[in-house]
Amino acid sequence: MARLIFLGPPGAGKGTQAVALAQKLHIPHISTGDILRQALKMRSPLGVKAQGYMDRGELVPDNLVQAMVEERLHQDDIDSGWILDGFPRTVSQAEFLDELLQKLGHNSVQVINLDVPDDILIERLLGRGRPDDTEDVIRRRLEVYHADTKPLIGFYSDRHQLVYVNGNQPLEAVNTDLHEVVAP
Ligand code: ADP
Repeated sequence: MARLIFLGPPGAGKGTQAVALAQKLHIPHISTGDILRQALKMRSPLGVKAQGYMDRGELVPDNLVQAMVEERLHQDDIDSGWILDGFPRTVSQAEFLDELLQKLGHNSVQVINLDVPDDILIERLLGRGRPDDTEDVIRRRLEVYHADTKPLIGFYSDRHQLVYVNGNQPLEAVNTDLHEVVAP
């Protein structure tokens, strides 16, 4: 049973790798970025609240994202396992998730840190062409990553849940490394 959290900076390739692995393992891929972008497209109340933050490269407030994840983890398809991509992104989100998983009885969670140096990230993100991928917004997202999300590396490695995967190599090689670290 795989329950995986993908950590890593924006542009590390979390999304691509998480989708491929989820398909292979037949488990849902839960991306908070995707859910938020969908909400934005539908102009739902959540989307309207989130838009300004996303456009600026800031984090959407914890309470909004947490409610979203809580709802998603109560759906029927999560019994077989799951991959969380883009959540948690702050220590308080991680603490929230801990409690939620305890309530759900979900243990043995593995956290994968996809590692890529900043200069490579900026290059990749500029090439991606998503509407929130302008240079200023990218720099802001990286700052936010270093300030708010990077502390999660310590948080999870203290609990011996963290595994490193080198994201600075060709997609196929990252894919192979990931398969090797994910417990069968
Ligand atoms: P990337 O591919 O750059 O890592 P995502 O697709 O995961 O970005 O997220 C896009 C945007 O959605 C983020 O810049 C942020 O504004 C918002 N977002 C996604 N996940 C979270 C989260 N867990 N907490 C707060 N904001 C989030």
